[in-house]
Amino acid sequence: MSRYLLCVALAVALAAPGRAAAAGKLSVITTTEDLASLAREVGGDRISVEALARGYQDPHFVEPKPSFILKLNKADLLIAVGRELEIGWLPPLITQSRNPTLQPGGVGYLDASLNVRILDVPAGQITRAMGDVHPQGNPHYWLDPGNGRRIAQTIQKKLSEMSPGDAAYFAGRYADFDKRLAEAEKRWDSQMAPYKGLKIVTYHRSWPNFAERFGLDVVGYIEPRPGIPPSPGHTLDLIREIKRLGVPIMFVEPYFDLKTPNAVSRDTGARVLVMAPSVGAEKEIADYIKLFDYDINLIVTAIKQTGAK
Ligand SMILES: [Zn+2]
Repeated sequence: MSRYLLCVALAVALAAPGRAAAAGKLSVITTTEDLASLAREVGGDRISVEALARGYQDPHFVEPKPSFILKLNKADLLIAVGRELEIGWLPPLITQSRNPTLQPGGVGYLDASLNVRILDVPAGQITRAMGDVHPQGNPHYWLDPGNGRRIAQTIQKKLSEMSPGDAAYFAGRYADFDKRLAEAEKRWDSQMAPYKGLKIVTYHRSWPNFAERFGLDVVGYIEPRPGIPPSPGHTLDLIREIKRLGVPIMFVEPYFDLKTPNAVSRDTGARVLVMAPSVGAEKEIADYIKLFDYDINLIVTAIKQTGAK
């Protein structure tokens, strides 16, 4: 694979980057489908947008494809989640794209986390024993609609800088998205209102922003430490804790093995919910607002079925 990537890199080195701008449409590449959806909301028909990772993939570990290098070579703008989410796969692709504007610090590289609310910023020294801890805080921040709004605003600013003639258009699109998101938030808040303080367990630490926003209490994780697979000892402790606290539901990301969650469920009665962490995790989740519609409906339906409150 790496040899092939190198060949592609050499080939694209000959092509001039950022050609799409000349045709009048900014070419935007995002790392995730969530960012693609937010960019589409703001950019409308003045930009073309494509995501590299699919919404059902683990965004920490995306298999780099040669086609990604070609896409990055031609892009005017790359939008990344940042906070080291993509550190395992994106940096070599950027280097090999030979697109000078996309290199970090370049005008065509946008870190979507610049103005968002970040949780789990570790205090003090980070050691390997802590697992895959992100020194810049939890990178799954897009799962709070307030952060979605902030990301959209950051994108609006960037697109307006890159294409000043379209600034009013982007501002209008942002205002419309902001309004629709606010209406959706009212709906989600009323759906979730009866479940304030509900105790949940999650597989990975993907949900702190979501839990904070909707008043859920994350009391444990199926991973013993971030990025470390389940271990028998940790699972037994978790089962005890779920029984003691009466935890009714567990969130599992679609890219994790269900073996341990299902075993915990059989032992405790807590239901496994395969939650959508991103746009595109399921076919029907076509945009950022539908992502929360999907997840909140899943939660509310499951809690009603378990009879918990
Ligand atoms: Zn993570």
